[in-house]
Amino acid sequence: MSLSEFELIDRFFKSRMTGDLHPAVSLGIGDDAAIMRGRPGQSLCVCTDVLVNGVHFPARADPSEIGQRALRVNLSDLAAMGARPVCFTLGLTLPSADEQWLSGFSSGLFGAAEQFGCSLMGGDTTRGPLSISITAIGEVPSGQAVSRSGAKPGDVLYVTGCLGDGQVALHQLDFEAAEFTAHKPALAEAAHQSVRKDLTPKDHAYLYRRFFRPEPRLAFADLARNLMSSAIDVSDGLRADAGHLARASAVELCINLDQLPFSRSVLGLTSEAERVNAALYGGDDYELCFTAETACRDKIGEIAASAGLRVTEIGEVRHGNGVSLFDRGVATTADHQRGFDHFSRMETP
Ligand code: ADP
Ligand code: MG
Repeated sequence: MSLSEFELIDRFFKSRMTGDLHPAVSLGIGDDAAIMRGRPGQSLCVCTDVLVNGVHFPARADPSEIGQRALRVNLSDLAAMGARPVCFTLGLTLPSADEQWLSGFSSGLFGAAEQFGCSLMGGDTTRGPLSISITAIGEVPSGQAVSRSGAKPGDVLYVTGCLGDGQVALHQLDFEAAEFTAHKPALAEAAHQSVRKDLTPKDHAYLYRRFFRPEPRLAFADLARNLMSSAIDVSDGLRADAGHLARASAVELCINLDQLPFSRSVLGLTSEAERVNAALYGGDDYELCFTAETACRDKIGEIAASAGLRVTEIGEVRHGNGVSLFDRGVATTADHQRGFDHFSRMETP
């Protein structure tokens, strides 16, 4: 049986680390970003994301949108740590020096870099199948980074924004479906379901933007950093990412499926089962899933309002382990698929 993405990382990289981390590194493999010493009073958060043509974006996507997406998904990991973006490096593998493509890509990339206040500081360029690797660096006051491991029984579980947009966008927008969806088991599954294709221009624009320009929740995280007991960004589906949070914190996360937040577009385009499935297993949403003490409820509400961001309570933290799903107060077995894993195919129940 082939290794899962996380077994692979664990077996060949994490567990091969012998001895202590370098004293400058205070958190290594296993969170949304590593943490290391920064300038006085500050720590640096460092994270890498690789985007491969045909896997993370459709082959013929607008290069400017690819540039936007490449940086934004990285910055989402910084938001999950409560860090502010500082700079990034760019590793670019290109099949050819296509000037038109490069001009579009760099406008999108620098558009996002300017918007989120981080600068390109280096990289590497090689020839080969198109892929983009970005390492983003952020800064956070020392001791205030938000990790995956701080959730405590009794905490409230929250999610920012809306879930399911990523997968519904993938299914509804007219990407080169066969080639692209082959890498997306949850999406291939959705293709068998009856998601409607009669997209209004408004839904199209919304879903297109949500896929190519996910909003790293940096402004909210900056204000709520000291209220969040733990956080992760939802890149592989809420079920899998909440599982990472539960494991890192050694707690059970209870998710109320009837409280999951959905956009007007997703509500209009999907059945309830389809959108819950998209939220749990679809991925590509880049929202924050986080926990906070109940005493922080009002403060979180105020910060969400001031950041103009929907923040929804979706469950609670209990003693135990893993993720439990509830539908209108009743435990449910909707838990039959898995989050996106680059090395495992979806297992049918
Ligand atoms: P995320 O979805 O937040 O980007 P991943 O699920 O990709 O995180 O990775 C989980 C953890 O494993 C992260 O801490 C990441 O830095 C680490 N990781 C992933 N691939 C490697 C690798 N090849 N070598 C070392 N660490 C890795
Ligand atoms: Mg992440």
